[in-house]
Amino acid sequence: MEQLKWKKVKGRSSTELREREGVPFLVFPSLEAAGMVVHGFSTRLGGVSEGIYSSMNVSFTRGDQEEAVRENYRRLGAAIGFSCENLVCSDQTHTTNLRVATEEDRGKGFTRRKDYTDVDGLVTNVPGLVLATFYADCVPLYLVDPVRRCIGLSHAGWRGTAGKIGKKTAELMTEQYGSRPEDLLAAIGPSICQSCYEVSEDVIEKFREAFDERFHTELFYEKGGGKYQLNLWRANELAFLEAGLRPENIAVTDVCTCCNPALLFSHRASKGRRGNLGAFLMLK
Ligand SMILES: [Zn+2]
Repeated sequence: MEQLKWKKVKGRSSTELREREGVPFLVFPSLEAAGMVVHGFSTRLGGVSEGIYSSMNVSFTRGDQEEAVRENYRRLGAAIGFSCENLVCSDQTHTTNLRVATEEDRGKGFTRRKDYTDVDGLVTNVPGLVLATFYADCVPLYLVDPVRRCIGLSHAGWRGTAGKIGKKTAELMTEQYGSRPEDLLAAIGPSICQSCYEVSEDVIEKFREAFDERFHTELFYEKGGGKYQLNLWRANELAFLEAGLRPENIAVTDVCTCCNPALLFSHRASKGRRGNLGAFLMLK
């Protein structure tokens, strides 16, 4: 798998490729080092789906064959190290709504119907529950508290990023489990980079409101014609810092989905004809 042609951010090495059972996936060594979670981020490789879903699609709702998607999950579980009956899936609609996942949620979104809607992030302190969120350019936010033994996993598109869902997730972990921000380990996962992410004025307006003016030059620049390039990675990092996380405890990915369209699903690169990638996080 090392021969796969990954395009990575120069001078940063936060994300690593692993392969088990013939299935490649990405991990953050900084989260592995905590020794208390199983985690991973899928790629397009190692699955059974075909066509625009080829091959490791984990979305049941984009038109792929259900049986193929189920087999993809089974393979990812075998590779990353989880059982699919323990999945608890988000119901992503670009909100900043969070759900506290409990024993009662085990299997929801995979073996059982979800009985909740509009949930873009999940937290839990139940060992063995596998939090799962879904992507094709949006930003996965992983949180691990090695002291209070709890985790969070949230999906941030531009709306969730402007709404600081990462900060909200950290705050919910404090409220529910007594987490101290300075103990939290965070990872900002594979997603679209600033060079690939062009947005219009109305989006930038939300970031001007959400972030202090002194950060604006590092968050976006104007290209002309009312178009801007937006840095979602830095915006999510700033939101974590605002929540009180230590800078050295925040890992920022070096992998852009849109720069690697043969290896990762990218909404922008595929013009919407694509499957979904999955982020998975479980407390051991
Ligand atoms: Zn890119």
